[in-house]
This record gives sequence, structure tokens and C-alpha cells, in this order.
Amino acid sequence: LPELPDVEVFRRYLNATSLHQKVQAVHVKHSRVLKGLTRRTLQKRLSSRELEKTARHGKHLFVKVTGNGWLRLHFGMSGFLRYYKNRSRQPEHVRLRLDFSNGYCLAYDNQRLLGQIGWVPRPEKFIKDENLGPDALEDLDFEKFRQLLSGRKASIKSALMDQNAIAGIGNIYSDEILFQAKIHPKAAAKNLVKSKLKTLYEALHQVLQEAIECRADPEKFPGHFLVSHRGEGKRCPRCGGSIKKIKLAGRSGYVCPGCQKPPD
Ligand SMILES: [Zn+2]
Repeated sequence: LPELPDVEVFRRYLNATSLHQKVQAVHVKHSRVLKGLTRRTLQKRLSSRELEKTARHGKHLFVKVTGNGWLRLHFGMSGFLRYYKNRSRQPEHVRLRLDFSNGYCLAYDNQRLLGQIGWVPRPEKFIKDENLGPDALEDLDFEKFRQLLSGRKASIKSALMDQNAIAGIGNIYSDEILFQAKIHPKAAAKNLVKSKLKTLYEALHQVLQEAIECRADPEKFPGHFLVSHRGEGKRCPRCGGSIKKIKLAGRSGYVCPGCQKPPD
């Protein structure tokens, strides 16, 4: 489930592989992922141009096309990018493929078709139109963080996952951040005192940074992360207690009742 760290890793991967090469052919393999543009329009806007630079906001990746606007990629539940030359490396569920003049291509794979490919004149316009909150890592200082969460009756986990409040955090990383901050996901956001919010804010930065440093690969995550212990009855990496599964806003979350005191 690509969240902020995963999308940041995709962004760096695209930067390292696909910039400044002429797009020779544009293959849209499944138009269901196209949002607000047709196959033909997308082909016209990309053909014979280059990918110039990238930007990210929350879970959205933006790719500037020379002399034109920005391609927007969202990865849904299962998306990723792959750059390759040899067809044997082609992933299974390619929805968009750009062929470059150097013989390599960049594929957007999205098995469950819940991702989106769009087009925006500028990322700022999309962020405004969609009313997205500030990016969790890039433009969120503690004061803003406190303002966004204070007074909210919702659980802190729902508040962290609300893209209109803070952009980039989903189910997995909200659990991880709350586990590191020793805060129960069902605690009401408005009941968190300033010192707890400070701990939470620091955990948010630390978790997202560390995840990016590990290239968002759960197998490389540090041992104190909850992510590899997600499962009812698994051992808490901090206290050795038993991890519990909880339901919240229709999603399954994981919590250590020993480390994360349930709200009254
Ligand atoms: Zn514990």
C-alpha cells in the first residue's frame, strides 16, 4: 500500500532512471487508471518530449514534462514503477509504459487498478483543488501539526490518515507512528496534551525518514518497528507483549496494549 515513504522512493527511482530522455512511444494498456484524460490526449502530451523533474505531495507523484504540464501518478493499493530494457523484466500488470529513445522503458504497474494517472498544469493547483493538507514530511511544522489536530473529536489514527488534514500517511504508517509514540490509535485527537503531540510529531518524522532510508522495504526496517510484527498475537518488539488487532474506520490496525494505553 504505497504511502508517503513508498512514493518518495518511487520519485527518487524515477529521477535516477528516467529523466532527460526522449519519449518515443506511449502505451496505455488499461484506460481505467486514466483520470480526466483520454489515451490519445496523454499520448499527444508525452510523445517526443522528456521527463524533466519530479515533485511529490503526500501520496501523489508529479512528473514535469518539457514544454508542457505535469503528469500525476497515484499508486492506489498496489502500484509501483519499473525501469528496464529487457522484456523479461517487465512486470505483470503494466497500465502505462513509456518507451525511451535509449531502448529502455518506464512502466507503471497497478494490479488492482485503484491507482490514478492524471494531468495537471501545476502540482499546486491540484493540491488546492483537492484540498489536500500539507505534506507530512516537507511542510508541516509543529505549530501547524498542533492546529490541524487540536479540537478534533476523531480518533488520532483517523486524523493522521485524513489526507485533507495531513497528506501522505495511510494505514500502515499511522500504526507505526502511534506505536513509536506510545499512543493508542483510538485516543481522541482533542484529548492529546501538548507534550504527547510533541512526541507524536517527532515520531512521525522519525518513522517516515527511517522508512525512506530503508527504501520503504519492510525487510530492511529497523527491529524496533512494529511493521514486521503486524499480526494478532505477535510479539511487541519493545515490551514482548502480545500485539492486538483492532478495527477502526473500516480498516485493520495493530496495537500493543502494553505500550499504548487504551483510552478511558
Ligand atoms: Zn509493547
